[in-house]
Amino acid sequence: MPIANHKENIIELKNISFSYGDDTVLNNLNLEVHKGDYLGIIGPNGGGKTTLIKIMLGLLHARGEIRLFGKDIREFREWSKIGYVSQRAIQIDTSFPITVTEVVSMGRYAMKGIFRFLNAEDRKKVLESLREVEMDGYQNRLIGDLSTGQQQRVFIARALVGEPEVIVLDEPTVGVDLKTQEQFYALLRKLNREKDITLILASHDLDVIEREATGLICINRSVAYCGSVKGFRMHESYSDFYKESMKIHHH
Ligand code: ADP
Repeated sequence: MPIANHKENIIELKNISFSYGDDTVLNNLNLEVHKGDYLGIIGPNGGGKTTLIKIMLGLLHARGEIRLFGKDIREFREWSKIGYVSQRAIQIDTSFPITVTEVVSMGRYAMKGIFRFLNAEDRKKVLESLREVEMDGYQNRLIGDLSTGQQQRVFIARALVGEPEVIVLDEPTVGVDLKTQEQFYALLRKLNREKDITLILASHDLDVIEREATGLICINRSVAYCGSVKGFRMHESYSDFYKESMKIHHH
């Protein structure tokens, strides 16, 4: 019986190790993500952030134990509970001449299987999700004709339309100007605080993670830190990482 304020475990990773051939990227990693968390995955480029995300989503098979919503990943079927906004979503999808509504509907097909048609309820959900990200005036526009910031909102709507409990985002603001970034993170904050959607955000940008997330895991091939954002500032790896991050900013 769970105690009153015990938070549901959304993702649990135990002793996770992963290699590409002989190249070990993650070694004995442990992580728990609870309902309502806003977890930052921080680390330099090549540190293993995308690899970790792909392992969580079952796209890569790692050694160790993975539980999603309390279930072993090998038995887990409720993939619509997890929304994913990949780093390359924008580059890939915008080359097709499809409308905003069609992009968002894909999130619904993923839920039902591609051979089922969308019914009135599905169409209502598509519109609601576009409203949530303030893109409901753009339904019939081609995705390729929108600004990068607007495209990102549409990809969030596509993740939302499956009614996920957690959304995983991999470097979602690469190549986006600061003002658009701020609006984007305000939207994520709203989803986390008002709709209690658990967020997992990978970024090499320490400023963003410090400002937005409540907990973080810092990985640079191995886990350098895992815990609260406040605790990270006192941790020995903080100053190293901070310097690294500043170098990137100056470039
Ligand atoms: P990050 O997301 O932090 O930039 P990645 O998880 O993408 O890091 O990559 C971690 C390391 O694994 C890098 O050294 C990268 O070159 C390597 N790597 C990533 N994908 C592959 C792959 N498909 N095959 C071989 N090595 C890979």
